[in-house]
This record gives sequence, C-alpha cells and structure tokens, in this order.
Amino acid sequence: MKRKVLIITLICFLTVCFSACGQNASDQQSSSAGSAAEKEHIEGFSISEISDDLFERMKAGDTFKDDCIVPREDLRYILALHVDKEGNTHQGEMVVHKVIAEDVLEILEKLYEAKYPIERMVLPDNYMADDEIMMRDNNSSSFNFRFISHTDDISKHGLGMAVDINTLYNPYHKFVENEDGTKEEIIEPATGKAYLDRSKDFDYKIEKGDLCYKLFTEKGFEWGGEWTDRKDYQHFELPDKITEKYAEEYQK
Ligand SMILES: [Zn+2]
Repeated sequence: MKRKVLIITLICFLTVCFSACGQNASDQQSSSAGSAAEKEHIEGFSISEISDDLFERMKAGDTFKDDCIVPREDLRYILALHVDKEGNTHQGEMVVHKVIAEDVLEILEKLYEAKYPIERMVLPDNYMADDEIMMRDNNSSSFNFRFISHTDDISKHGLGMAVDINTLYNPYHKFVENEDGTKEEIIEPATGKAYLDRSKDFDYKIEKGDLCYKLFTEKGFEWGGEWTDRKDYQHFELPDKITEKYAEEYQK
C-alpha cells in the first residue's frame, strides 16, 4: 500500500514537472515568436551580424582596416532591395553600426516601396574602400573605417553612423583656403561637378523635403545638404551628441 502511494505521488510529481516544463517551453516559443514578429521584414530585407565570410571580405576590401577600433560585434549587415530609375529592382547590401541598423532598414524598405530611385548599393569593399571611385559609380553605402585626417577622431562613416545615397548626383562641395590665401574648390566625386547646380532637375537628386530627406531626418539624422560651411548632398549622419559618445568609448 505504501508503495502504491509512493508511486502515485511520484506520478503526480512528474506530471507537474512535465507540464511546468511544457509551459516554460511554450512561453519561450511564444516570446521568441513575438520578437521575430517585431523584426519581421519584407522579403529581401534583413539585418544580421557580421559573419566570418563577410568579415574576411571587409578586411580584404579595406573597410575594416588594421587600425579599426570599432568592434565587429557593433556592426550589422543589411540586405535591402532597391529600385533604379529605370524601375529595375536590385538586391542591395550595406554595413552600418548596430545603433542605426533598424532605422536604416526601415528607411530602405520605405524607399523601395515608394520606388524612390537608388542606383547601386554594394559595400565599399567592392571598390577597395576608395571613396572617389565609389562615388563616381554612384554607390550608396555607410561603414568605411577611417580617422578624420590628422586627428584621432573617427569619422562618422568610420563609425557606420552616416549613410551616403546616390553619391555621383549628390556631391560633396567645399571651398578651402590654402596657406597662400588662395581658395581651392573641392568637389567629390570630381565627376559630380555638373550636379552642384541644385536648381536643375535630374535623376537621383536628393532635395530638402523629398522622401529620402524626410525618412532620414524623421529618424534624427542630419542632412549634409543643409550645412552652411560646406555641402554634402549625399550624406545623412547621426548628430554629434550620439556619435561622440560611442567614439569616446572606442578610443579608450
Ligand atoms: Zn558621407
């Protein structure tokens, strides 16, 4: 009799145990399904960590340079579709800092859905991280590690916290004063000179108030086309108060 009670007690105990485990497992399942639903994106759009193969590509292609102090773990690889001005869809890719990954993916999704034209979106590694060549090719990209010339400060592209869109048609423009007092005009890419006249209408032009401008600025990015000491029409970046926090941490 005692033995029977013992067996029944044991069965009850095991039943409770199993149902608790089952409950736990289904809880876990539903919570992971919940987070997956939150991060669900349309096909062709995703965010992932830097895989070993990609990391090798970034080192060989020179965006992740030997002196890079941004940890690989803080970078994300975005896959996104984009449509060119002819209406052709392309699979694009971009490496950004994790802090902007979700926002940039959302922006690129909305640009794609609206058929906002972006011609090319491949990693700078395809150009051996050469900015001028990449801009002439109208490539859109973000992460490319570098310090600002003659400083220990990491550039915002070096942090992966700046994004350039349709670079040839939205050039960088600045006048610098040389030591002898003469002024030098800098246009990057040099082949983008024709697109400095922003009163003209042409494909791939970013304008204040257009969809690209709106989506980036809504997420807190600043547009280089609004700067007064220089113009960088292709460029959207996070404000200093955010980037400096990370840069300081990496420089420690
Ligand atoms: Zn830029």
